[in-house]
Amino acid sequence: MKVVIIGAGVSGTLTAVGLARAGHDVQVFERAPELRDGGNGVMVWHNGTGIMKDLGLRLDGLGRRIDAADVWSYDGRPLMRTDMARIADELGTPGLGVMRGRVMERAVEVLPPGTLRFDKRCIRIEEVGTGRDAHVVAHFSDGTTCTADLLIGADGYRSVVRRHLFGDVLPRAMGLASWHGTTKVPIRLESEHVVPTYYGRVGLCTIHPVGEGLIHWAFEVPWQGALQHLPAGREAADASERPRAGSRLAALRKDFGTWAAPVRELLDAIGEDDIGVAPHLLHRVDGPWGRGRITLVGDAAHVVPPRVGMGVNQALEDAWVLSRVTATGDDPAAALRRYERARRPRAKRIHSTAKMMQRVNPLLLLLRRTRRGLDGTKMLRANILRGSSFLNDDVR
Ligand SMILES: Cc1cc2nc3c(=O)[nH]c(=O)nc-3n(C[C@H](O)[C@H](O)[C@H](O)COP(=O)(O)OP(=O)(O)OC[C@H]3O[C@@H](n4cnc5c(N)ncnc54)[C@H](O)[C@@H]3O)c2cc1C
Repeated sequence: MKVVIIGAGVSGTLTAVGLARAGHDVQVFERAPELRDGGNGVMVWHNGTGIMKDLGLRLDGLGRRIDAADVWSYDGRPLMRTDMARIADELGTPGLGVMRGRVMERAVEVLPPGTLRFDKRCIRIEEVGTGRDAHVVAHFSDGTTCTADLLIGADGYRSVVRRHLFGDVLPRAMGLASWHGTTKVPIRLESEHVVPTYYGRVGLCTIHPVGEGLIHWAFEVPWQGALQHLPAGREAADASERPRAGSRLAALRKDFGTWAAPVRELLDAIGEDDIGVAPHLLHRVDGPWGRGRITLVGDAAHVVPPRVGMGVNQALEDAWVLSRVTATGDDPAAALRRYERARRPRAKRIHSTAKMMQRVNPLLLLLRRTRRGLDGTKMLRANILRGSSFLNDDVR
């Protein structure tokens, strides 16, 4: 089949890998003049690295293996430890902290030459014909078109494809934002393979080693900006969209400056220009994701806030399932509906987790009264795997 993918972000490039491996003729159209491989660190959980291997992507030298995730209170008391190495032993594949762009690079290196087309902004989609003769036409801002058997919207949370299918349905802003960056910071961490996150009532601070001597750090704080004005990539650049006026660094120091040592040291080491602001967004996922020969993947279908750490993982799961359901030569529209049915329960669970995690700070802080904190390994294992039975079932 000929497949057109709109958007060459993480999900567009990964879906292209999956569909090319399933034997399809794939073209990815990206509006930017080159691959937008910027961004900060992301988590690829154990099932995500398993999918990467299955899609034929190299893992060697990619990011940092994460062996444990620790939750601390703002004043440095242990609340929870999650043994990710144990999950890795059990599942046979590691969890990684990695720069977003590095995942895209690994996808692009296995794509057939000429798969990616840049400077191609999709402005309109046309659905032509019915049944076996149906096809889809993508129209681009330069006046060109491309006709295909299937069209996949991988064009992020403000997707043109989503708008074509369902009208202008923006995700919900959750009232929080990550103030984050990735820099070399001379702070003392327990290990390059442990992610510490500090929780307080005002927000949280998380510190992720992502390899290459870099650390991705993020502070979660309240955010009340206007979603409509956000540029792509979710960074709120305009000062009016900042949670509070004035210097970002000064605001962070005011809220987090008295926290436990690595947080204070981090705030001494970063500069004003290092701090980007990414609002937390959440799509409804219980409605349809597609129609006829069209479907959605990644943030176009199910954007979630970074606290859940599932953006890249969900893109991998989408790519993997799509590659399986389209490999049989069955009716293409029916294959897309199978993909949506397989993925929706998982996306719904992640959606619920995202809503629950937004309210979890006061509960976690109750654990300050315990001496050693909880073991979160079972909970994480369940979160990684729950609802992903499609990875074991034959979704074909
Ligand atoms: C530049 C950038 C930086 C990011 N940084 C982070 C980060 O630091 N941390 C984090 O958790 N998440 C980040 N994200 C979001 C993260 O990539 C996603 O949450 C997740 O990986 C799913 O990706 P996606 O491919 O569905 O969406 P995206 O990564 O948003 O990719 C969508 C792609 O579609 C393209 N596109 C959009 N509209 C059109 C159109 N009409 N025609 C053609 N192409 C179009 C965009 O230019 C973009 O390349 C970033 C996204 C971008 C684009």
